[in-house]
Amino acid sequence: MSAPIRLALIGMGKIAHDQHVPAIADEADIVLAATVSRHGGGVDGVPHFTDIAELIASGVAIDAVALCTPPQVRRAIAAQAIAQGWHVFLEKPPGATLAEVAQLQAAADAAGVSLFASWHSRYAPGVEPARAFLADARIDAVTVTWREDIRVWHPGQTWILDAGGFGVFDPGINALSIVTRILPRPFFITDAALDFPANRDAPIAARLAFTDDAGLRIAADFDFLQQGPQSWDIVVETDRGTLTLHDGGARLVLPDGSEPAQAHALHGEYAGLYRRFAEIVQAGTSDVDIAPLRHVADAFLRGRRITVDPFVE
Ligand code: NAP
Repeated sequence: MSAPIRLALIGMGKIAHDQHVPAIADEADIVLAATVSRHGGGVDGVPHFTDIAELIASGVAIDAVALCTPPQVRRAIAAQAIAQGWHVFLEKPPGATLAEVAQLQAAADAAGVSLFASWHSRYAPGVEPARAFLADARIDAVTVTWREDIRVWHPGQTWILDAGGFGVFDPGINALSIVTRILPRPFFITDAALDFPANRDAPIAARLAFTDDAGLRIAADFDFLQQGPQSWDIVVETDRGTLTLHDGGARLVLPDGSEPAQAHALHGEYAGLYRRFAEIVQAGTSDVDIAPLRHVADAFLRGRRITVDPFVE
């Protein structure tokens, strides 16, 4: 399609307002045509609806939707959108289960629409230079430290610690989306310990170990109760020295101390996501990589469950 893609934004919570609205405004090939939310506010001058059924009934012309709801309810809304012949941009994680994402992919293919499983952290400026460096290196060990304060970053978002909300894997899957992008070979989980608060149904911390066919050691430490300095770091030891991605991939430090990536805010990641979405819609393709979600599912399959103190916000 050559005209701007008329997009409806669904689930007007934190990420929709903070990142999607400004990124759409900056993307020439996409125009915000509607917003949908039960309680969340809309955008001045843009038609607003309570749910997708109301949007469909309105007759407002739509080509695509971006779904910013929690993962537990995303599949049903995506299926309705695909049935309308609309292209679908899924916030991360793309679904609450692997099978439902596969089903959406099959439905999108059958309907001839684009499905985009977005991974915003892959668009952080350090990620592609790190991938290029690691393509030529022998990788010996990877250490992931993803420790943030749920009370600071997710106030009132009770869905995160509900079943299907991913708990600490809501941020942790961002780390996995980077590691699966920068490492040249696939890897798999060998051990996991998941801490579940006694009063919640999703983990608040996790310690994970992965390896690959060559015996690479990958260790990940995810914690949602970190106070003081916050960490979103990936350290990769190689035969050419140690590479570090800081700040969720925004800052890359190479072994010689050089920093090829300029740090910038999350907004740059969303500009990249919407550029990519416009590209796949225009090309008539989809972009659905479930590797990060598969590692989370495997952590739940393989992990030991440890009950810890109740979480009280
Ligand atoms: P949020 O602030 O809780 O917003 C989600 C919105 O979805 C809510 O405002 C709510 O709007 C709607 N919603 C909630 N439950 C719903 C239901 N049962 N049915 C339909 N709509 C429902 O969460 P968020 O932080 O924006 O995160 C949303 C998604 O974006 C998550 O998958 C998260 O991983 C991802 N994400 C978040 C961030 C971040 O920094 N916060 C960054 C990147 C990606 P209404 O009640 O008005 O319908």
